Amino acid sequence: MLQHAEIIAIGSELLTPDRLDTNSLFLTERLNSIGIEVELKTIVGDNEERLEQVAREAVKRSALVIATGGLGPTEDDVTKKVFARVLKRQMVLDDQILERIKARFRRRGLEMPANNARQALVPVGGRILDNPAGTAPGLWMEPEGRHVILLPGPPPELKPMFEECCLPRLAELAGGVRLFKQVFKATGITESSLDERIAPIYVKYKNPVTTILASPGEVQIHLTGRGRSEEEARKIVTELADKIEFELGDLIFSRGEENLEQIVGYYLMMREMTLAVAESCTGGLVAQRITSVPGSSSYFLTGVTCYSNRSKIDLAGIPPLVIEMSGAVSAEVAKGLAEGIRLKTGATLGLGITGVAGPAGGSVEKPVGLVHIALSMDSSLDHQELRLAGDRERIRLWASQAALDMVRRKLI
Ligand code: AMP
Ligand code: MG
Repeated sequence: MLQHAEIIAIGSELLTPDRLDTNSLFLTERLNSIGIEVELKTIVGDNEERLEQVAREAVKRSALVIATGGLGPTEDDVTKKVFARVLKRQMVLDDQILERIKARFRRRGLEMPANNARQALVPVGGRILDNPAGTAPGLWMEPEGRHVILLPGPPPELKPMFEECCLPRLAELAGGVRLFKQVFKATGITESSLDERIAPIYVKYKNPVTTILASPGEVQIHLTGRGRSEEEARKIVTELADKIEFELGDLIFSRGEENLEQIVGYYLMMREMTLAVAESCTGGLVAQRITSVPGSSSYFLTGVTCYSNRSKIDLAGIPPLVIEMSGAVSAEVAKGLAEGIRLKTGATLGLGITGVAGPAGGSVEKPVGLVHIALSMDSSLDHQELRLAGDRERIRLWASQAALDMVRRKLI
């Protein structure tokens, strides 16, 4: 049963900053959907010697090798020649392919350039994969029970060829396996402490496979289950997903693709509440994130960026004495911003953020990364102090994440 694949992307342009290898991303997504995992991929330039090294290794170690690119008519397109050598196969002229390429040119009123005849040269014993979108046909060879598939580089040619000529048979070879994927997103916890809590649960499961991915302010848990049907795969995932969800509780903010600002928006809408924010160190980032969600105008009233002390007084109504007594970065000012903006706008919830984003401006008492967040609602005034690490961008992002999460927690 075919479970693993290796991809080789061929083309010197893919080794420059100008062109991305997107074919392997497409192939990986499609292969994953039929239960085949990509174990390894290589990008190699249009260099016969290098490609031969890579191809030799690949054919030795992988039951399924998919190569893309280098099937064109020019001198630097060497894929077929190299694979023929590696698999010890002669190159022969395929009359049918030649006729098809000639016809393609005739239809456009052109004579076939001599160069293009090269595209009709194929290693013997391969299955030709038709290319309705271009001239270079693909090729599927099966040396000793292995599978080597050569596909053209241009995505508009590769995609239909793979979908139509490769995927159905590969799905059969993969034993009709189906995958089901569940994603959890958590915040307010570090990757390592999250892993400490759920590792004892998931290590007992080989299927589903658990992957943990961290990005600033967020940890994602990906569970991928394999089954003989989608139903079975889903059941396999659900058993583990339930246990993980039970362990992490409200640390999980999303069970799908939604980001934190969407979830906050969803809760505000559901509860028919409104929000206003007064931001200092995040400089409008929270407002920007909230308003990136379509329909946010129904719950988001105002965002002010009050960077100077004067603006904290004028825009959020903080008493000047509070700033004088406690300093601009303090619990009192965060609370003042939250309450002030709520009262000024008549919002249900007021959020205030102040902190030292750095790199300058820190002191022993108030180091870079110190952030105060406050949330005001009716008579309640919650406050949170964070000590964040990292550069300016990271501190601002974490602060915005923590602020949004504070709203979420208030509403669940
Ligand atoms: P080739 O089959 O090598 O002649 O490729 C023709 C064109 O397809 C290249 O110039 C690229 O623009 C594109 N291409 C080749 N390989 C890839 C790849 N891995 N991902 C995205 N585009 C590619
Ligand atoms: Mg190329």
